[in-house]
Amino acid sequence: MTLICSDYNLFDRRRDRSARPNGSPVSLPMLKPFAIHLLSHLSRIRSNMTDSCVFCSIVSNEIKANVVYRDEQVTAFRDIHPVAPTHILLVPNRHIESVGTLEVEDEQLMGHLFTVARKLAEEEGIAKGGYRLVTNTGANGGQTVFHLHVHLIGGQRMRYPMG
Ligand code: 5GP
Ligand code: ZN
Repeated sequence: MTLICSDYNLFDRRRDRSARPNGSPVSLPMLKPFAIHLLSHLSRIRSNMTDSCVFCSIVSNEIKANVVYRDEQVTAFRDIHPVAPTHILLVPNRHIESVGTLEVEDEQLMGHLFTVARKLAEEEGIAKGGYRLVTNTGANGGQTVFHLHVHLIGGQRMRYPMG
């Protein structure tokens, strides 16, 4: 599909031609990067994300990740340094620093995130044998990325004790 680039209207080809006979053709693929940039900018504003948050950048597709699940509230992707055969991180799409900054309004979101974790465990084939869900909170909790996330870890026998 080809659109005509005009000063005011990219989509009305007929009107554009008559208004600007020498208008340059612009294809939809050429517009895609601008659309993605605009959408990610808007989502950053809406979620108060910081420019430096790696998980916000994964949610907005600015940084590549092996995404295994995505909906309007939650994104799940494989950990870059897996500690077990299955190691998936589940994050809210909206930037929340940690469990330490959760609000009452986030209860539905967190319940949904855990339901997604259960579904992914089933899809990964680790539900029957069991798995571990971990949410490190704050520096002493071992949190290194300050966008709330739940580790879904499985596919091997977990070691105890923790800590
Ligand atoms: P935390 O230590 O905060 O509980 O866990 C952060 C996790 O994020 C770590 O397991 C780390 O390997 C993972 N991680 C950090 N940066 C990236 C990244 O850019 N991509 C992916 N997929 N995982 C990341
Ligand atoms: Zn973030």
